[in-house]
Amino acid sequence: MFAEAGQLLGCPNSLVQSPTFTIEARKEDLWFVASKEDANKPHSVKVSDTGRVTCDESCVRWARHNICSHTVAVAEKVEMLSKYFNGLGIGERQGR
Ligand SMILES: [Zn+2]
Repeated sequence: MFAEAGQLLGCPNSLVQSPTFTIEARKEDLWFVASKEDANKPHSVKVSDTGRVTCDESCVRWARHNICSHTVAVAEKVEMLSKYFNGLGIGERQGR
């Protein structure tokens, strides 16, 4: 999973921030992350300034574990990885 997140981060087109979705009050950003399963259907990952990161319902790993390569990649991109992990209760880890 961390290797996958690293691949996503290494490919500039895999992570795209939606320019229109920033909700000022909630400080939440939407990112589109390339999906390995279906290149035409990127996953939508939301990240808030509290370190909460969510993937979408079609992501099996996210649905089961509340963590997936997409959320890890976005969290690292926005330098929220330690916050995100703290929120999950698994502590900070360097996975690459
Ligand atoms: Zn995902």
